[in-house]
Amino acid sequence: MSLAPLPLVSKVTVLRGLGPARAAALQEAGIESLRDLLWSLPYRYVDRGSLRSLGSLALRGMEPADPGIVTVLGTLQDVRQSTTRVQHMTLTEALLEDGTGSLRLIWFNQPYLGRTLKVGDRLLVFGALSVGRHGLELRSPQFEVMDAAGDTGWVRRFLPLYRRMGPLPGRARQALVAEALGRAHPPEDWLPIELAKDLPDALSALRLLHDPPDDSDALALEEGRTPAHHRLASEELFAFALGVAMRRAGRMRRKGRVVTTSAELRERLHSFLPFRLTGAQRKAFREIVQDLTSGRVMNRLLQGDVGSGKTLVALLSMAMVAETGGQGALLAPTEVLARQHAESFRRILGKEGDALQLLLGGMKAAEKRAALARIASGEARYVVGTHALFQEAVTFQQLQLVVVDEQHRFGVKQREALKEKGGDPHWLVMSATPIPRSLALAVFGDLDQSVLDELPPGRQPITTRLHKPELAERAWERMRGELAQGHQAFVVSPSIDPSDEGKVPLRDIQAMEALLRAIFPDVGLEVVHGRLKADEMAARMGRFVRGEAGILLATTVIEVGVDVPNATVMVVDHAERFGLSQLHQLRGRVGRGTRASHFLMLSGSETERLHTLVETQDGFRIAQRDLELRGPGEFFGVKQAGLPRFQVADLVRDRSLLLRCREAADRTLAHGLSDAQSDWLKREQTRLKLAEIS
Ligand code: ADP
Ligand code: MG
Repeated sequence: MSLAPLPLVSKVTVLRGLGPARAAALQEAGIESLRDLLWSLPYRYVDRGSLRSLGSLALRGMEPADPGIVTVLGTLQDVRQSTTRVQHMTLTEALLEDGTGSLRLIWFNQPYLGRTLKVGDRLLVFGALSVGRHGLELRSPQFEVMDAAGDTGWVRRFLPLYRRMGPLPGRARQALVAEALGRAHPPEDWLPIELAKDLPDALSALRLLHDPPDDSDALALEEGRTPAHHRLASEELFAFALGVAMRRAGRMRRKGRVVTTSAELRERLHSFLPFRLTGAQRKAFREIVQDLTSGRVMNRLLQGDVGSGKTLVALLSMAMVAETGGQGALLAPTEVLARQHAESFRRILGKEGDALQLLLGGMKAAEKRAALARIASGEARYVVGTHALFQEAVTFQQLQLVVVDEQHRFGVKQREALKEKGGDPHWLVMSATPIPRSLALAVFGDLDQSVLDELPPGRQPITTRLHKPELAERAWERMRGELAQGHQAFVVSPSIDPSDEGKVPLRDIQAMEALLRAIFPDVGLEVVHGRLKADEMAARMGRFVRGEAGILLATTVIEVGVDVPNATVMVVDHAERFGLSQLHQLRGRVGRGTRASHFLMLSGSETERLHTLVETQDGFRIAQRDLELRGPGEFFGVKQAGLPRFQVADLVRDRSLLLRCREAADRTLAHGLSDAQSDWLKREQTRLKLAEIS
């Protein structure tokens, strides 16, 4: 009986090779349909082209002649287990033979191997060779037990390997996938022709990746850069881009409060300012004014390099709202920053500053009650605070604008909470760190963007140096010189606690404090870190800001925003412990005045990576490099709740594809989606969990 072809939406349970326990394991891993199963690609391919016969493995002197991973295939001749006398480890030893020679395999502390490995098993083994008492051996190698019935899958050059899912071994997936590929009905082609041209259709792409033909490009296959990968990645990215475009279109239809403006008002706002706006600030503010007066809800991302003057643009926007009777709220990631924003706003606003209210979690009860009352009555038209603003007790009289500083530290849920407090306020998001375009699109997809690509005039360049710890004296020498001229210095330490994890022993902040007191006995020193109580932290910061202390020793609590123009030197200890964007952000704490400044990193490792900072001051380039090195999740330093979950697409590798998909999505939306396309989109959105984003 020939079986009818199955649509990809069919449940995996239609496959004959799947019992209930294994189906449950798949479901656990999020695989419910044939589509889910097929889009979950092998994690690796074994290239038979690189398969070695055991007889060809040799020693060169005391070392294996083949460095790196070798792949061998053979039959187990002997399996035995023993316990080591000293540490009581279970040792599993086996001998692999392939007719040309034999090789010893050893595993440590994996007692179950004694039960699973049997003499006569065919094993595909890969690992790095080492030299033991009996010559060459593989220690703790990875392996696949091959099907006794003729090495299924091994007739081809590439063997796909799948991860184990609970009771479903990787190699059982091969059979399931083969059945699914054999029975799947070719799906309709949803991709616009401009994306699909020169690419295989989806089903062919899946075949090419689960069962690569012998002439495939091994490297491209391994790196996910074949046309087949592009096809599948495009499907995911296009669905994502289309969803984002639709959400944006929906927002454009939402009515927003019109903030009235006049030339006279804008003139007055500018007269507050202690300096002329840069061209970029002017342009960004113009874009914001357009949004606020458009009758639609503003949802804008303000990007700019460290020190480009985002805060001032935020203040102007809040002033525009305040001047017309509404309330604006600025949300800062830390209390230090919230206080600092409030102070600088008050300074600029002069007597208007009476309308400003600070709200912090650490406030005393009476103080907080008074603050809440002023916010609820509308007397406070500028509200500055931390996540305390999300709390339920906070009510606004007329919240019209929310400005979020350093957006990526706030989760989607928190943003939603604030949205509910004020009908549908306008929304201005500022990212402290420049974000590469593709990632900004993925995380802030439906936001309009303004970019401050110009620094305020008169900035002195910052000299950046990287010193080995042995040469730290050079950094202290520079610091001594700056302090002697009456300037101030930051010293950044990566850790509050002594720690010996990691390769380099870590100097903690107490050790650094002792060192600094010894080197600079006559200079006032303040120490701040995340474990201080809020008021103690504020007091210590205050003394440094007012110039009463020459040195501020800190953890990364000072990473964002802290603005002390008289500080002209920063020394970062153990620079290797920080991400590039984070270091760039730290560097932005100096060079804020008009004097030449110095950024000095101490590190004995990762010199090549850290050298990026010596080479460039361009935050966007540094961010791109950081993203490539660490991937999107780590890039943000915290787990980003809002990153879409793609199975094939990779936001770093496929960034240009994402930008093309975005353009295609806009065009598709302009022409209107077919019913079938909408259905497909809805399914994809659920699968990629796109609803949780932005
Ligand atoms: P960031 O974009 O990193 O948040 P800030 O808003 O903190 O930057 O601004 C950095 C510094 O530049 C502050 O000291 C601010 O007062 C100053 N500044 C901002 N705009 C201008 C301008 N147009 N001209 C001169 N200085 C400016
Ligand atoms: Mg800032």
